[in-house]
Amino acid sequence: MAETLSLENRVAIVTGGSRGIGRAVALELAARGAAVVVNYNSSPGKAEEVVKAIQAGGGKAAAFQADVSTFEAAQNLVKFAVETFGDLHILVNNAGITRDMVIMMMPEADWDAVINTNLKSTFNCSKAAVKHMMRKRYGRIINIASVAGQMGNPGQTNYSASKAGQIGFTKALAREVAARKINVNAVAPGFVETEILDAMPEGTLEAALKLVPLARTAQPEEIGYAVAFLASDQAAYITGQVLGVDGGMAMM
Ligand code: NAP
Repeated sequence: MAETLSLENRVAIVTGGSRGIGRAVALELAARGAAVVVNYNSSPGKAEEVVKAIQAGGGKAAAFQADVSTFEAAQNLVKFAVETFGDLHILVNNAGITRDMVIMMMPEADWDAVINTNLKSTFNCSKAAVKHMMRKRYGRIINIASVAGQMGNPGQTNYSASKAGQIGFTKALAREVAARKINVNAVAPGFVETEILDAMPEGTLEAALKLVPLARTAQPEEIGYAVAFLASDQAAYITGQVLGVDGGMAMM
């Protein structure tokens, strides 16, 4: 029997792997044997720390700067992974930002920044990765969406739209590439303890936690476990799904 959730001999890209959830995902995939490209945009030091932590544990990792909201940078990221580690099996589209504001006050630039960073990046990186995965007839694409894309959040029309967009993208691409044994799924976290929560207006988190049956926030590692499962051979029959890791907040 295959070792449970082993990712030995797999190569993974984690976008936005320098901090928060992406960092935890990168560490978890590496702990299970994958070589990991830790993508970052503006935090080279933090990305290097993640790489060093993986290498200290005997794993393989490399950092790569790319603003994945731009098409060309995403192509370069995939090229780097294949050139550095010889293959690409797992893509985790995790990079994301918030620019919260009620619609009446939301600048057009904040709509564009959130859609481009969260949703267009998912298209950019998936398109580049799928080209490689189709030839190899194997792949796992895991998109980090959000309960905001399932339930909607006031003050987050841009963010909720980007996350709902990722969910639609997940389902459409899963149908497109299933015949090539490429599985595409989304993980929809609830409230996870990362820097992104610092941007929430005071009192919002406390109020929101009243909607969480498990009555607590998640640790980033808890998202990492879900991603590692979906990346593994044990999840071979799962595609086009949205796995909520949200303490029961959105029961779809
Ligand atoms: P975070 O701590 O703010 O980290 C964001 C990560 O995204 C950083 O590594 C950052 O890299 C990277 N990033 C941002 N823009 C990028 C770009 N243009 N190109 C490449 N990388 C970019 O956020 P987080 O909480 O871990 O969130 C990670 C993902 O989970 C996001 O998609 C978010 O929407 C989703 N999520 C989070 C929560 C939560 O409660 N935390 C809940 C649901 C969903 P640099 O620092 O190098 O710029």
